[in-house]
Amino acid sequence: MMSTILIIEDEVELVKVLRAYLEQAGYDVLTAYRGDSGLSTWEHKRPDAVILDLNLPGMDGLDVAKQIRRKASTPILMLTARVEEIDQLIGLELGADDYLTKPYSPRLVVAHLRALLRRAGSPADKPIILRAADFEINLDAHSVHRYDQEIELTPTEFNLLATLAEQPGRTFTRLQLLETASQGMAYAGYERTIDAHIKNLRAKIEPDSKNPIYIETVFGVGYRFAKTTYPNSQTCT
Ligand code: CA
Repeated sequence: MMSTILIIEDEVELVKVLRAYLEQAGYDVLTAYRGDSGLSTWEHKRPDAVILDLNLPGMDGLDVAKQIRRKASTPILMLTARVEEIDQLIGLELGADDYLTKPYSPRLVVAHLRALLRRAGSPADKPIILRAADFEINLDAHSVHRYDQEIELTPTEFNLLATLAEQPGRTFTRLQLLETASQGMAYAGYERTIDAHIKNLRAKIEPDSKNPIYIETVFGVGYRFAKTTYPNSQTCT
């Protein structure tokens, strides 16, 4: 059974990105762009968890959280634009279960959500270990092993590898990878910096970085994680 996540957020682009990541992670996604409509969606659909923006039209996130808390213990992941707001929120003890400040990485949102659902005892808890080719990638611990040997990666390299390995065979453009690497703060024109990160990553994970077998270059487009060589690649617990 899949968990259903309700995103209440008025920034359309953020919703689009979050939805893509959550669906990729195996969740059913509902969306609302206003606080009041979000609350009514929650009321009618009773999702397994809510991702809630603080500043919303219609009804602000604090009130939405309070209304939800009055009736149920649905896990709430609150998104805020400023760190200072988090202190205020914790002081208010309004019932949100976890907080993230913007800009946040969609991957981080998924990781926090998984933890929330796990704590809530959701039966549809999702795996946090990604297995692809010879790699075991722990999305919670941010660690990578190849044949039981740990590979030390920088956070940027880790995010790149996890993004690519999550969808073997899918080609990512440099801009898409830059967005992952920079946690959503990508700037067009800097796409080539990805090449340097990929080069460093290959040096760490490829048997021969001049002839890469895991991370393939797709000329004129970007990169992809090799699929054909590893038919057994899979995601599991
Ligand atoms: Ca907002």
